[in-house]
Amino acid sequence: MLIADRCAVSIHYTLTDDAGDVLDSSAGREPLTYLHGVGQIVPGLEQALKGRAAGDAFRVDIAPEDGYGPRVDSMVQVVPRAAFQGVARLEPGMQFEASGDQGALSVVITAIDGDSVTVDGNHPLAGQTLHFDVEVTAVREASAEEVLHGHVHGAGGHLH
Ligand code: ZN
Repeated sequence: MLIADRCAVSIHYTLTDDAGDVLDSSAGREPLTYLHGVGQIVPGLEQALKGRAAGDAFRVDIAPEDGYGPRVDSMVQVVPRAAFQGVARLEPGMQFEASGDQGALSVVITAIDGDSVTVDGNHPLAGQTLHFDVEVTAVREASAEEVLHGHVHGAGGHLH
């Protein structure tokens, strides 16, 4: 069957950046299983999978707009060290949950200069073109319960 909304789809994938470095891969793991049509994967990849069948293998290049979005400069902010009360030692690369206007946001410390700490709330892959090598390993119709829950059950999905 061809991939369409309300399908449970299993894929193996390798994600590389412009330099060809591997950012993420399902190699050596169970395939990723997702419910098609509900935005569980980035829009560009979901679009590229539509109409494919089990056994299809392809490569797709996804612009930031169809991936994790463009980088937003205003999501980089300098905050005083005092904002990190209870943290004994701050280092670049540390991640924190910040509460913002639109709920919890994951931010990473990118620089520390004396009492000034620079944090970046952009997704790590924002602004990047994504290169996916994908192999569709299985396609089946999702159950009514899976559609209701908005996710897939069983192997590679929710176990409940
Ligand atoms: Zn469920």
